[in-house]
Amino acid sequence: MDNNKTGFTAQFDPAQIDKAEALATAKKFQQRLLLSKALYPYVFLFGIAAFCHKYLHLPLPNVVWGWLFGIAAVWIVYSIISTLVLGICPYCQQFQKLNGQTLGVDAQSVSYSKGVSPFIHRCNRCAAPLSVKAVNQDYAA
Ligand SMILES: [Zn+2]
Repeated sequence: MDNNKTGFTAQFDPAQIDKAEALATAKKFQQRLLLSKALYPYVFLFGIAAFCHKYLHLPLPNVVWGWLFGIAAVWIVYSIISTLVLGICPYCQQFQKLNGQTLGVDAQSVSYSKGVSPFIHRCNRCAAPLSVKAVNQDYAA
């Protein structure tokens, strides 16, 4: 299987890799991205808090606000970098192409732009299954 990793990308071939092995690889891959994915619900809650703060004039102490914002900022940076680094395909060893949305937060708004998403189910270079669901699809036949 090592000779697949050099040169241009070979397409993933389920016949060459054991299902159990593919499943283990997919689970490991998803675990690595868990913290990157957990950012999304946090930013969602943060957005709600920001909305309440702005329009409902919630008496949220500035210290709490500062912490929420600081955590979000650090986490976003972590999520983007980790998604890029940890999104490297275990089969073809390549970075994922830009595949979705990234979140941005500033003092006024939460925004989306095209970027890298940690919700990866399949390598978009060699089509290897990188989630349990995708493995089951590939090995169903
Ligand atoms: Zn790949």
